[in-house]
Amino acid sequence: MDDAAIIGAGPVGLALAIELAQSGHAVRVFEQRSEPVAHSRAIGLHPPAQEVLARLGVGPAVQRSGVQIRGGLGISRGRSIASMDFSTIGGRYPYVLSLPQQDTEQLLRERLEQLAPGSLMMDCAFEQVLGQSEQAVEFAAGGVVHRARWLAGADGVRSAVRRDLGVGFAGREHRDRYLMGDFPETTGLAHTAALFLHQQGIVESFPLPAARRRWVVRIEQTQVDDSPGMLAEAILDRTGYLLDAEACTMTSNFGTATRMVPSMVHGRVVLLGDAAHQISPIGGQGLSLGLADAQAVAHLIAARAPMGALDDRRLGAARSAARRAQVNMLLGRALPRWAVPLRDSAMSRLASSAWLQGKVARDFTMTGPGQRSVPVA
Ligand SMILES: Cc1cc2nc3c(=O)[nH]c(=O)nc-3n(C[C@H](O)[C@H](O)[C@H](O)COP(=O)(O)OP(=O)(O)OC[C@H]3O[C@@H](n4cnc5c(N)ncnc54)[C@H](O)[C@@H]3O)c2cc1C
Repeated sequence: MDDAAIIGAGPVGLALAIELAQSGHAVRVFEQRSEPVAHSRAIGLHPPAQEVLARLGVGPAVQRSGVQIRGGLGISRGRSIASMDFSTIGGRYPYVLSLPQQDTEQLLRERLEQLAPGSLMMDCAFEQVLGQSEQAVEFAAGGVVHRARWLAGADGVRSAVRRDLGVGFAGREHRDRYLMGDFPETTGLAHTAALFLHQQGIVESFPLPAARRRWVVRIEQTQVDDSPGMLAEAILDRTGYLLDAEACTMTSNFGTATRMVPSMVHGRVVLLGDAAHQISPIGGQGLSLGLADAQAVAHLIAARAPMGALDDRRLGAARSAARRAQVNMLLGRALPRWAVPLRDSAMSRLASSAWLQGKVARDFTMTGPGQRSVPVA
């Protein structure tokens, strides 16, 4: 019998499997897809996530493949009204590392294969939990019955494990909608993230490896055209940067929501990552949250400790990240023209406070109080 069966080979499920395999546990990962997803999705690895990845044995590879985001600029009407310098946060990783999610996942898959060859079962979807006892859980996946001491649902926002258990996922959809795409780097902004606070809605721009840049534009719910051409046009209108729509490698049109389970622990089944909490990608902290969940769950399984501590700490961290994402979305909404100068002067005044600059840098990098060290319960 495996010590842990993990549903979902996204970054969170893979991280949990590696952490457990490193401490000598027998693990198996069940993934419904037959091929990995080729989508750059989450690019931001915050310092706590980099610490987790280092412990998983992929730190040097991740650092080699990623590009450092060392600070940010708030730009309105062509001038900088606020800036953030991540070097002020100190520590081993005074930056957010930008790496497309498919590359992070690839490094994690390779590491798992090295530690536990054959433990990742592709094309093998979880079906249902058949029963639980004090020692084990029995479930069906890929048309076969399996048993494990623990079952971990790391199967994303639409978690089949969560639905099968009938666990609620309460929350709400936000009215904020975005269109994003990856383009060649032509800005000269290098290691800096730029937030263009345009009257019609924010445009965010982040460095990516291989001389590319991620652009995210706030759009109206009613907007139907989500082509690279439309994205490039909105970026030109709101920032003045002319991008080549033909060279766009990915676009994604996404809405935002905040949802959470009432508890991550259901007998011998644990929900983690996006299966346990969905937050808005604006601020980009969902992946880092999930990696910290994986670390905490692995630690509790290895220590044979009660799982009760998870909810307070991990759902508490998710609530804080969700609040930060909501503030970010609010700041990026469209404004009436008359309100823009008022907003700009208020932001410039606030940004001149060194204390506030430090706090914002810590919030953006997930290194504020209670976040600095990875929670391992
Ligand atoms: C547009 C966008 C941009 C984002 N940007 C950022 C960012 O910059 N930074 C950040 O931190 N986060 C970001 N996020 C969030 C981030 O992508 C997620 O938080 C992260 O992918 C969660 O990882 P996960 O492993 O929990 O779930 P997922 O990555 O969703 O993985 C779940 C896995 O489970 C599998 N699965 C599902 N059902 C079954 C089943 N029945 N049986 C077996 N397998 C199953 C799926 O195929 C999938 O492989 C972004 C999200 C989006 C949508």
